[in-house]
Amino acid sequence: MKGQYVDVFLSLISSTKDCCGIFDEDDVLIFCNPSFQENMCVQEEDIGVVNFSDIIRNQFHQKKGIKIDSNNLEEFVEYVKKVRRSIQYRSFEADYIDGRWFSVSEYTSDDGYLIMTLQDMTKSKVNTNQLNSELMQYKNMAMIDELTSINNRRGLITQINDELKMCTRPDTEVAFLIIDFDFFKNINDKYGHQKGDDVLMHVVQLIKENLSESDVFGRVGGEEFVVFMKETNKDRAFDFGVEMKNLVKDNPYEIDGQLIPITISVGVSVHTSSTDFEKFYETADRALYTSKRNGRDQVTLFEEG
Ligand code: GH3
Ligand code: MG
Ligand code: MG
Repeated sequence: MKGQYVDVFLSLISSTKDCCGIFDEDDVLIFCNPSFQENMCVQEEDIGVVNFSDIIRNQFHQKKGIKIDSNNLEEFVEYVKKVRRSIQYRSFEADYIDGRWFSVSEYTSDDGYLIMTLQDMTKSKVNTNQLNSELMQYKNMAMIDELTSINNRRGLITQINDELKMCTRPDTEVAFLIIDFDFFKNINDKYGHQKGDDVLMHVVQLIKENLSESDVFGRVGGEEFVVFMKETNKDRAFDFGVEMKNLVKDNPYEIDGQLIPITISVGVSVHTSSTDFEKFYETADRALYTSKRNGRDQVTLFEEG
């Protein structure tokens, strides 16, 4: 740097909001600007005296500065010592006890001097966090049925595929039930679409109360629902279908003091966990068709052939 600009450089370094500190080969702080002093809890008289470990300890005791993700201060100090000069250039994000975030970089020269800079990135971090949380919200919304607040088709497929992947044994038996309301169109025609919606919600609530935590429940279409149960054999799946069918029948919905009989038909298919969603759906749908054809208000188990 040309001589006359050294003062300009020092003046700029003193004024910038970015923090800048230089450490010698023993990690003793030998120079820092006012921003570094302020944000790293360093006093003028500390310069030339304290090392970086002392700075961390000081921040910890003052409950200021960088948040320490450990109850054991000395363990953290040792960790920082180990990583700080492990590579020539390091950059990372550090969160502060007061909620701010700093982008930190450390460069170590060949002769052991280290320059550390910190730049306040709180605003962009907050924006990114907000965007991520909104994105998560939209992703969840895309998987949830608006009327019933259970999985929609997309949510159902995603969750079932996740559950299938988690089955460690490919021969684990898994059950898939399709539930379809009988003559639902008549309910709409007689009482109106809104009351029809209320009936759907009533039945969803009944079924939900009878599911265990590991079951997956969702709405695949208008008045068609799916229950997916892991580690469930044919007998158990069929019995569950019958339980649901009777539950719905025994709990008619009341409209204007009048009990509205509701029945459902169920198709059940049981396969191993190596089977895909389409196959589960197709076979359970065939069983459902049989339930409908045989008079509705019944449960059919899909059998190969
Ligand atoms: P079945 O299944 O026994 O053969 O007769 P269904 O009348 O239930 O069968 P279909 O599939 O022909 O008709 C289903 C009806 O469900 C058509 C539509 O009016 C109604 N439906 C579909 N989605 C909704 C919804 O979100 N709300 C209401 N209220 N009705 C719906
Ligand atoms: Mg129907
Ligand atoms: Mg239908």
